[in-house]
Amino acid sequence: MTRAPLSPTPRSTPKRHGDRARSDRAELDAVLDEGLICHLGFVRDGAPVVLPTCYGRDGDTLFLHGSSGATSMMEGGKGVEVSVCVTLLDAIVYARSVFNHSANYRSVVVHGAARPLTTDVEKLHALEAITEHLAPGSWTHARQPDRKELAATAVLAIDLIEASLKVRTGPPGDDPEPGVWAGLLPVRQSFGVPESAPDADIDAPGHVVSRLA
Ligand SMILES: Cc1cc2nc3c(=O)[nH]c(=O)nc-3n(C[C@H](O)[C@H](O)[C@H](O)COP(=O)(O)OP(=O)(O)OC[C@H]3O[C@@H](n4cnc5c(N)ncnc54)[C@H](O)[C@@H]3O)c2cc1C
Repeated sequence: MTRAPLSPTPRSTPKRHGDRARSDRAELDAVLDEGLICHLGFVRDGAPVVLPTCYGRDGDTLFLHGSSGATSMMEGGKGVEVSVCVTLLDAIVYARSVFNHSANYRSVVVHGAARPLTTDVEKLHALEAITEHLAPGSWTHARQPDRKELAATAVLAIDLIEASLKVRTGPPGDDPEPGVWAGLLPVRQSFGVPESAPDADIDAPGHVVSRLA
């Protein structure tokens, strides 16, 4: 199936450094799949709020979950316009001038209406995507949600139709200055050695340990 390119609407078009904007869906997917958390922005009680949260993706749909309780972020996010951001920081860019210090990054901003999922089938599908994104292998290793847990979980779907991807790569962009260092300090996200819960009765399984590789 041919996938539509990212839609360049006015609000999803970066104005500064347009050369850093990308329109390839595969590149967008790669950033979403490499990121572990997102930031969800929406307007609650007339004021903007941005909250960090986990997410999952299936094709061109992004899923977020949270408590269905009245005070949760999902209460504010239900059926309203949201913006979701995923950022991968690749390097700190040291320049000769502080003005030109920067960051190398790959970042995605998604705009759209958050659609609350209502059926158990839809919610389970989304929860599997979220679980497998954060902790691949856990959907089948761990116990899946029972009816009470499912009822306590609100799940939102956001279509990846109106989204932007911006990428900065390469060295600092200023002129040489004697005696002032310029360059990149790479930033890496990596996993540490698994730490078993005090009451765990088995060692960390392969789907956890393998993430160290
Ligand atoms: C780690 C990191 C650090 C940054 N530090 C700075 C900084 O210190 N100062 C600074 O001015 N900018 C910084 N940026 C870039 C910043 O995110 C904006 O791109 C920038 O402010 C210019 O926005 P704009 O005027 O082009 O877009 P705007 O007009 O503000 O936004 C229009 C639309 O463009 C899209 N868009 C804008 N920026 C991004 C993005 N980064 N990723 C994906 N889509 C985007 C969105 O859909 C947005 O709605 C940083 C980005 C990252 C990822």
